[in-house]
Amino acid sequence: MPDISKFIDGVSRFQQQHFGDNPKLADELSRGQKPLALLIGCSDSRVDPALLTDCAPGDLFMIRNVANLVPPYEPGGGFHGVSSALEYAVCFLEVEHIIIMGHSQCGGINGLMGMADGSSVGEFIGKWVNIAAPARDKILKEMPDEPPEEQAHACEKEAIQISLNNLQSFPWVKERMSQGKLMIHGWYYNIGTGQLKFLNQLTKQFEVLVEQYSSEKLLNKLAEDKPPTNES
Ligand SMILES: [Zn+2]
Repeated sequence: MPDISKFIDGVSRFQQQHFGDNPKLADELSRGQKPLALLIGCSDSRVDPALLTDCAPGDLFMIRNVANLVPPYEPGGGFHGVSSALEYAVCFLEVEHIIIMGHSQCGGINGLMGMADGSSVGEFIGKWVNIAAPARDKILKEMPDEPPEEQAHACEKEAIQISLNNLQSFPWVKERMSQGKLMIHGWYYNIGTGQLKFLNQLTKQFEVLVEQYSSEKLLNKLAEDKPPTNES
């Protein structure tokens, strides 16, 4: 059985990088946090927002859950893990941006799609991912003949819009947005390629946010950087 020494080695490197090599940052962090953004991402092990954005401690306030969902504003009973973290980020830390980051091959969204055929996805997961049921129903209605994989990808993106809408059902989110103090964003990460897209709220289309790495581009860059030779 693989052991966890990989993680312990990682902690050692992390301590050196952020504390050994950067005492100023460590001092600032011990005084408090002032993250620029709240990022709501999936729990999926392949989609780590801090790794993906190359952030340092203190940069991102984060909520991760199955299928990166935001529930609607529902005061009252229940344990509101997502809503309380959202409240803390918006009302107390006063983040200026909220990013919902969905991704391809999302197990939570696949589970939601399967539920349309009566498949069970577990005691807690089913109720949770059902937050995005309107997204699934819309996709199945609009593209009934597409392969299941295409429907799932479309639902992953549509579910981001549901969460963006739900975000605005929280009165203090809506208020800060109307005051120009808070912006909300939808991102979509492709696990297979590393490409990141953003939701253009005007066109409702996902567009490339960061030009994708490609080996062809890298080779061109290497050729450009190559020092001139004296060959004639
Ligand atoms: Zn996921």
